[in-house]
This record gives sequence, structure tokens and C-alpha cells, in this order.
Amino acid sequence: MTAHEPGPPSADRISADREAALVAAVGAVRARIAAACEAAAREAQDVTLVAVAKTYPAADVVTLARLGVLDVGENKDQEARAKVAEVAELMPRDQLREPLRWHMVGQLQSNKARSVVGWASAVHSVDRPKLVRALADAAQGRRDAALDVFLQVSLDGEPGRGGVRAAELLPLADAVAERGELRLRGVMAVAPLGGDPDAAFAALAEISARLRERYPDADAISAGMSGDLEAAIRHGSTHVRVGTALLGRRVPAVG
Ligand SMILES: *Cc1c(COP(=O)(O)O)cnc(C)c1O
Repeated sequence: MTAHEPGPPSADRISADREAALVAAVGAVRARIAAACEAAAREAQDVTLVAVAKTYPAADVVTLARLGVLDVGENKDQEARAKVAEVAELMPRDQLREPLRWHMVGQLQSNKARSVVGWASAVHSVDRPKLVRALADAAQGRRDAALDVFLQVSLDGEPGRGGVRAAELLPLADAVAERGELRLRGVMAVAPLGGDPDAAFAALAEISARLRERYPDADAISAGMSGDLEAAIRHGSTHVRVGTALLGRRVPAVG
């Protein structure tokens, strides 16, 4: 067990060891972000750290929140919904200066839209018109604030892993812009497996620039994970989604 990869917790209640590991990991990740920003002549405050907490318990989210990590990512509605409720119980709102912001980063079926708009501040994985309609309809009259939407772009054109092809991005952006329940924030991508992340994120930066020609406010770029956040920041990422480097290697799900 190293400071960078604290490993899975053994119990729900946080141990002193686990807390120390998370403190070290948050420090290490923040240092990586700061160094990458410095190298790119960017401000570290312009990069939001989204801690991807999938498979990890609510107690870890509470510890991260107390360390100032207030953006939390999840990739499954069911797991997220339960964790959001648990965190609220463990850590009443008034213990934080700002409430947590929960980000849906995983592939999303339209029939989960109603549930997701109940807990998420942002959805990073919007990649088709049907999902835009489902999210907007679900959000209608049920939220105080608009739901932030990132359009997930497929950088390798492979449909299996989610994401719209670059050629279909602008029509999808138009669909989001038409709905007042949604706020178009920008683009999101996962670098293709085994490819050069620099090339992937450079391509994403160009796609983002094209989107901003039509929608100047849609200036966010959700890119970079534990293994490639430096490359993403070099190419303008505003939201890095970090799981492993903060919380440890995930135990592979069974079934
Ligand atoms: C799990 C996940 C991450 C975090 O990945 P790590 O390599 O563990 O940092 C980021 N983005 C998405 C979409 C994910 O599903």
C-alpha cells in the first residue's frame, strides 16, 4: 500500500490509516495538477478535481469532502443514489461551506434520467438526442438549477464505449441549448485505450474550439484520469476525473 494507491477500505467506518492514505493521495493529486498547470502556464484553480468514487464507500466521500474535494463522480445511478443519501446522513449540509456536487460520468440509459436528475449537478456522458430529451423532461419542474451537461465525444469513433462522433456534435449541442432545464457546459472524452493521450486530447481541444464558435459559454473540457491527467491539462482540460490515484485500485466487479 502506497500513499498514491491507498487500496480498498476494509470497513465502512474510516480508519486512521485510511484517512492518512486519503490525505496523502489528495496532496499528491493536487500536486500533480499544480505541476501540470504550471507547465502549461495555466491556473490550478481553473482545473476542477472530480473524485470518481465508484465502488468506494460514502465514508471515503465524507473524508474527501473534509479535505476540500467537493466534486464527486459516479458511473452508476443505483450506486450513486444510495451513496448520496448515505453521505447526506453522515455529513449534514451545514458541515460544509458549499454543498457537494455530484457528477454522473458513466454511460447512462434514458430510463435512468429521472433518477439521475434527482442527485446529479452535472452529467458528463450525454451522447445522443434521446438522452438529452429524457434528461430535460425529467429535470422539468424538479430542480432549482439547470443540469450541467457535457457532451461525450468518441475520439476513436467506436460506438461501444459511448460518445458522439465529432461530426454529430453540433446538432447534439443544439438539442441541449434548446432546453432551459439543461446548461451546455462543454465536452468530455476518455482517451482511447492504448493510444497516445496527447493526440487524443489535442483532438478534443479542437472539437471544443469548434463547439465554442457556436456556444462560447460551453468552454469546459472534462478530460484526464489517474493515468493521463497531465496530458489532458496540457490540452486545456477544466475537469479531471480521478479515481484510482485518490482512492486506490478498484476491485474488479463480479458479474
Ligand atoms: C472510473 C472513471 C474515471 C476514473 O478513472 P481512474 O483511472 O480510476 O482515475 C474517469 N472517468 C470515467 C468516465 C470513469 O468511468
